[in-house]
Amino acid sequence: MLIISPIPAFNDNYIWMFHSPDSREVFVVDPGDAGPVEQALNYHGLNLVGILITHHHFDHIGGVAELAHTRNIPVYGPDNPNIKGITHPLRDNDTVELSTCQFKILATPGHTLDHIAYFTDSGDDENPALFCGDTLFVGGCGRLFEGTAEQMYSSLSRLASLPGHTRIYCAHEYTQANLEFARAVEPNNRKLQEQVMQVAELRSENRPTVPSTLRKELDTNPFLRSNQPEVIQAASDRDPSSSASPIDVLRVIRAWKDNF
Ligand code: ZN
Ligand code: FE
Repeated sequence: MLIISPIPAFNDNYIWMFHSPDSREVFVVDPGDAGPVEQALNYHGLNLVGILITHHHFDHIGGVAELAHTRNIPVYGPDNPNIKGITHPLRDNDTVELSTCQFKILATPGHTLDHIAYFTDSGDDENPALFCGDTLFVGGCGRLFEGTAEQMYSSLSRLASLPGHTRIYCAHEYTQANLEFARAVEPNNRKLQEQVMQVAELRSENRPTVPSTLRKELDTNPFLRSNQPEVIQAASDRDPSSSASPIDVLRVIRAWKDNF
């Protein structure tokens, strides 16, 4: 089992910090800024022993040099030579042992080509966890900056096949805007309406809406529902020339969200 907590950074980033309950040795995921991480470590009396990176964007790697510099700790990340400071490049289906848990690496190209996600269900089967960076968000998915709709579709499909109770730790608090869009796509989705209310309550108390669970995302996130009749219909209303294939539906709703 892991204790996982968010370190807010910038406007809406979460840097996830995790450790096992009996240890003060922690890892952080996507430290875009070193300052808030150092503060959290000091405040809780924790010792940073490793860094995980999901992709090359600055808001995910900006703090790596500063954090790793004085500590000489491993930095896990995509096999992308353009990311400075990675000591352990990872590829699809690799496994790594971190903090008594085994993590499986899933290549998830789409948002960027180098994007990877970290999945663990070892240690405590009750609580599988996924660190998915900017691939899957609560209620949404990452913009297609480098990859294609095909790639994003297959990346999301892979994540969708993980256990339903997997907790989804994404890197941004984008949930409310995402759900507003989701409602435009599926105005009749009852579970989505419930989710909108739960999220509004959390945000009114300034609490994170992350993690979600995969089960919840499958029920409410339009980017995981491109095979559902209402989502297909919404895509074809938006772009009558597109087909009903899940990849085309994803392409149409992603482009729609870009301009929403
Ligand atoms: Zn990004
Ligand atoms: Fe980001």
